[in-house]
Amino acid sequence: MKTLHTILAVGLFFSPLWREGIGNEASAQTKPMENFAIVIHGGAGTILKDSMSPALEQQYKDKLNEALKSGYNILAKGGTSMDAVVAAIKVMEDSPLFNAGKGAVFANDGTNSMDASIMDGKTIKAGAVAGVHTIRNPIEGARAVMEKSKHVMLSGDGADKFAKEQGLKIEDPKYFFDEKRWKQFHEIKKKDEIKLDHSSDTSGSINPLDVEFLGDGSIPLTTGDKFGTVGCVALDKYGNLAAGTSTGGMTNKKWDRVGDSPIIGAGTYANNKTCGVSCTGHGEYFIRNVVAYDVAALMEYKELSVEQAANEVIMKKLKAQGAEGGLIAMDAKGNITMPFNTPGMYRGYTKQDGKTWIGIYGSDK
Ligand code: ASP
Repeated sequence: MKTLHTILAVGLFFSPLWREGIGNEASAQTKPMENFAIVIHGGAGTILKDSMSPALEQQYKDKLNEALKSGYNILAKGGTSMDAVVAAIKVMEDSPLFNAGKGAVFANDGTNSMDASIMDGKTIKAGAVAGVHTIRNPIEGARAVMEKSKHVMLSGDGADKFAKEQGLKIEDPKYFFDEKRWKQFHEIKKKDEIKLDHSSDTSGSINPLDVEFLGDGSIPLTTGDKFGTVGCVALDKYGNLAAGTSTGGMTNKKWDRVGDSPIIGAGTYANNKTCGVSCTGHGEYFIRNVVAYDVAALMEYKELSVEQAANEVIMKKLKAQGAEGGLIAMDAKGNITMPFNTPGMYRGYTKQDGKTWIGIYGSDK
């Protein structure tokens, strides 16, 4: 019996399967291709150059750059798109600049309640957490749900408990306290509004569906105390796409409101057959329009390019409904598009040659 085991073990060691790495996500795929890439966003909204100081602008650019670099380095070394997405999003979650993780906005009860999701375009597996309060990096919580549970979405205390059991980094809720966010929350709460983090009503027109969400714009978005949801789409050397999104949701949200970010198909979607997508914007619209999946479906069923599909949804469909927001998307060949119907969106990408592009305003091309 022992001899048989030895023969089997030796045989397996010398088999091509073993040499190519059984169980190694990255290497168990087809032969490497070179057009890997990563694209990120840090939220869309009324981001105007006039109301942004050069120093703050630089801080955003530096952080976006750091996030891209952390994901790019993984891809360049032959790592997976899933690892790259988590790494890039963690950088933004750890920064108070964005409405995710450390910088998450306050809900009506004075807590920070965070949502995140991730999807693997190779396996079409997905994971999400909603309404979590203690997971330092909710994107890791989402990944753990995908990889370590039989479910797709866990919520509230149960999700926090699961993350702890999985050995993820847990923080005291105090960790998520941010002075600027607290002030922003109290000003919004005083008026009993529920406010999109990235949205001030500068349009002058009110969509009837929106009444409960619109403010009077008295707290301008661009003063530095408004930040956005974060997201990432990556394509690795093996042709696999992954997408993830993480957010604190809307300031002063009540009743454990959950937005689009943790909902697969609404805020996040990835499928090697079509594209990877991460959204930012008025979550209720993104849920109703199943935005991320809609982009993929237009590619799959109508054979639109990733750019055409994303434009159709953001610039036509959502715009016609008065819905603010944007998305980042990449197809399996590495074509990237980043449409938004707001004045700005924190965004950037790095392609396989290592060249990075970062933009904030609509005029950044
Ligand atoms: N989509 C997020 C939500 O509705 C907000 C955002 O993108 O900033 O929760």
